[in-house]
Amino acid sequence: MKRFIIAVIACTCLAQTAAPPILVVRAARMITATSDAIATPGLVTIRGDRIAAVGGTVPAGARVIDLGDATILPGLVDLHTHLTSTGVHWEDELLKTTPGEAALHGAHNALVTLMAGFTSCRDMGPTWPYTDIDLRKAIDAGVVPGPRLMAAGNYVSPTGGAGDARQFSIFVDVPIVRNLADGPDEIRKAVRTNLKQGADFIKILGTGAVLSKGAPPGSQQYTEQEMHVAVEEAARWGRHVAAHLHGNEGIKAGIRAGVRTVDHGSMMDDEAVELLRTHHAYFVPTLYTSESISGDPTVPDSEKARSKEIAQIKDKSFQLVLKAGLPIGFATDAAVVPHGQNAREFGYRVRLGQSPMAAILSATKTAAEIMGWSDRIGTLEAGKFADLIAVPGDPLRDITALERVVFVMKGGMVYKSAEYADRRNQR
Ligand SMILES: [Zn+2]
Repeated sequence: MKRFIIAVIACTCLAQTAAPPILVVRAARMITATSDAIATPGLVTIRGDRIAAVGGTVPAGARVIDLGDATILPGLVDLHTHLTSTGVHWEDELLKTTPGEAALHGAHNALVTLMAGFTSCRDMGPTWPYTDIDLRKAIDAGVVPGPRLMAAGNYVSPTGGAGDARQFSIFVDVPIVRNLADGPDEIRKAVRTNLKQGADFIKILGTGAVLSKGAPPGSQQYTEQEMHVAVEEAARWGRHVAAHLHGNEGIKAGIRAGVRTVDHGSMMDDEAVELLRTHHAYFVPTLYTSESISGDPTVPDSEKARSKEIAQIKDKSFQLVLKAGLPIGFATDAAVVPHGQNAREFGYRVRLGQSPMAAILSATKTAAEIMGWSDRIGTLEAGKFADLIAVPGDPLRDITALERVVFVMKGGMVYKSAEYADRRNQR
């Protein structure tokens, strides 16, 4: 079992009359993500749960955390996680686990993800409906440490499609899981049900999937009209639709239908790229998954074969969107990539030709924009939440530094600090 050292040093529960303590985090460099520059030195002043200033000098009376030869960055954002997934293949999960188990694993996975430097996540749907919303509530209430969450609540999937984990005999059902919706009326009802239960956005599954024995990833499953119904209904609630889309025709139909994000986006062509541009949709690929799936003993061979088939195609799709200069979000599909290893996606992207700075901006500024949270996270700017991390050395020289996060602060609270770890080891 991994051990974490949690040091809470800025606490808003001090005497109500006292002004919040002033804290300064200092390091050799910082990437504010407001531009593609790296600044030296790095200095961020924090008051309560907010950033008070970036750069400048240390205010009188401030407590200073000096991180030495490190780079300060905004807290990272993963736009596609499944935090309440227990790591068991999901057909087995339905048959052999319980929602309680999922919630407890979710609490652990949330902590692991936070410690890896991801201070916000868009959670793309649990196996057991609405456990991700329970997790979000627990994190917001401060009873479970974890990233700020936007939660999908439940999948909206066609029968036999990517969200239909019940590839069992027709005589076997899991009645408590109701995530299948076919045709406009059922889809509208599913969207309304999820939003009523507290979902922050809608996750639809427009094509087949890799990790499923249902329709293959390349096949379109929802019609453009069906996806449009989800978009239209979500918009009435002021919410967006994130669409799981692998196959080319499904991707184009989804973009035309008005989805905000094309998740995975494995099979892009020039026309799909042009549609992204004209419809202002965002591309949210999950590239490191193929490496992760090939080495995962819990993934059946049939699904490993599906993953292998599209691995190179999706790498090329990424390069196509990259070349077009369109904004790209950052995502991992964890638990497909083990929780806490989210940052491995950075190295994979840089190997495919994205610059280290562009990869960092996709997981900070752009990801916040995609979530509609640019007012509170994504860059180091006065007034935003004090969500910041630090990595050793310079991540622009070695992008894998992001896999070795030494400092994590969320909302002004320090959750991880090498400084404290060292001190404890010396005792
Ligand atoms: Zn997913």
